Amino acid sequence: MADNSQSSTAAGASDGAPGPSEREVDLKLDHYFMNKAVQNAKDSHDPKTKVGACIVNQEKKVVGVGHNKMPNGCEDKGLPWGNDDDDPLNNKYVYVCHAELNAIVDSRGHDLKGCSLYTTLYPCNESSKIIIQSGITEVIYLFNKYEDDTETKASKKMLELAGVQTRMYNNEDKKLEIDFTVQ
Ligand SMILES: [Zn+2]
Repeated sequence: MADNSQSSTAAGASDGAPGPSEREVDLKLDHYFMNKAVQNAKDSHDPKTKVGACIVNQEKKVVGVGHNKMPNGCEDKGLPWGNDDDDPLNNKYVYVCHAELNAIVDSRGHDLKGCSLYTTLYPCNESSKIIIQSGITEVIYLFNKYEDDTETKASKKMLELAGVQTRMYNNEDKKLEIDFTVQ
């Protein structure tokens, strides 16, 4: 008998799929893939928020990587990286392609059904839409610094409803670090 009173995050998806805690997490591989996401983040030209992502298939092979960047062909052509101008056209938000989008596009040709996505930052709502539509079923994140933002709450809601498992990367040894605030 199903116990619907339990939260899907604690009990796994309602369809009976194993939750992250029940899966065997290979810590070495987990570190390898998150480190790949971190290394990709370093390639971002965003002076404030560098984000990296790495998609891994069920055979534990990397099938796509990405970092937040301006659209192809638009890099270094004067699009703004700032975020506090009164005119939204002078802020980065309307232009930048997030790491998750770039990693999914980078995986061109691969079936992403059942893949895992490692990302240095909990996905925003727009990225979560793309993650869900691509068939990715697990998201592992390093930080969730915008946890209280509406976008992140919407993101969490959608990922849960869609049955995408999420878990925070175990970074207790603090081996992986990203400086979000270099300016
Ligand atoms: Zn995003």
